[in-house]
Amino acid sequence: MHATEFQLPTRFGTGALGGCYAPETLMQPLIDLEEALRGAVSDPSFQGELKAELRHYVGRPTALTPAPRLAAKLGFRNVFLKREDLTHTGAHKINNALAQALLARRMGKEEVIAETGAGQHGVASAAACARLGLKCTVYMGVVDMARQAPNVARMKLFGAEVVTVEAGQGTLKEAVNEALRAWAGRCDKAHYILGSALGPHPFPTLVRTFQVVIGEEARAQSLEQHGALPDAVIACAGGGSNGLGLLVPFLGDALQRFAVEAGGHGSALGEHAARLDGGRLGVLHGCKTLLLQDEHGHTAETASISAGLDYPALGPELAALAMDGQVRVLRASDEEALAGARLLCETEGILPALESSHALARLPDLARMGFSSVLLGLSGRGDKDLSTYQSKLGL
Ligand SMILES: *Cc1c(COP(=O)(O)O)cnc(C)c1O
Repeated sequence: MHATEFQLPTRFGTGALGGCYAPETLMQPLIDLEEALRGAVSDPSFQGELKAELRHYVGRPTALTPAPRLAAKLGFRNVFLKREDLTHTGAHKINNALAQALLARRMGKEEVIAETGAGQHGVASAAACARLGLKCTVYMGVVDMARQAPNVARMKLFGAEVVTVEAGQGTLKEAVNEALRAWAGRCDKAHYILGSALGPHPFPTLVRTFQVVIGEEARAQSLEQHGALPDAVIACAGGGSNGLGLLVPFLGDALQRFAVEAGGHGSALGEHAARLDGGRLGVLHGCKTLLLQDEHGHTAETASISAGLDYPALGPELAALAMDGQVRVLRASDEEALAGARLLCETEGILPALESSHALARLPDLARMGFSSVLLGLSGRGDKDLSTYQSKLGL
């Protein structure tokens, strides 16, 4: 298989969506970042170093695993799993964190700031910073720290400082607020590694640039291992980084693309994080996109069993693709996600992250729609969610 050449998309920004709604102090650092990104991507030595790290440290390419017992149980001919759970640190987040840490070092920054929800991006950033000798500070909501305690310990072991964010709901939204604020105060020395395809330009493009490796590998592996592409490709969507990473390389193909949001425990505002149906265009954390908001335009509270999907905005590029009809957005409830996790565990002996379980939960519908061969992005492993599985599944 050919190693992926990281390329900037030809189209920067996403028309009406995206943009750069950032405070004045961050404008120059964001312009510098875009420049550094362009420089890095066109520099063979950066590409070479990133590819070597992805191979020898992260463990890429990740496997494309056939799931025959799962397929038989649901009535598919084939189900294939793109195994980001097998990467070092256990989720796709490391692809982006490592690339951005290399970018930070290239820009001469000695320090990295990151935010985290489920803790996977914090762990990935802390690991990448330890690997490259950079100081790392991670902002995390107090509620997420409680539900993802093992990841807090991992970040600390990797030498990162974890800053507790008490404000608001104590989840990802508040952590991003604090991280952006901290970055504005230290942007001369620090780089901010944003963890999803969100935030002010160039972050959404930057993150997607370093995540499309997922779909490029999966597409090539489908052709190599099975001689054909699947009929449908599906991933879960928080901000949208693993979803874009998997789906974008399939945009030119005659197949259906799906993203699954968190349906939480109800359909009223505040009970879910399903932005496509529930959201309207608005601005959060520097970009314009589909956002859950109340009738006054205040960002709404969200709820999900999975910390990684518990965010009020869908990333602007995935939102644009959804509004364009190129990606169909579905939702899965907390209960359905738990059932999806159990199904994969029992049929294939793979413990998925709660986030990825939302995509698994919609597989029966894809079977009913008549798809016979499906490729699913398994964005991460479920070890971090063991305590939730234990309590919710009565183990
Ligand atoms: C963070 C995370 C997600 C959600 O983030 P995206 O940017 O939408 O990919 C999904 N799965 C796992 C395992 C995560 O850690």
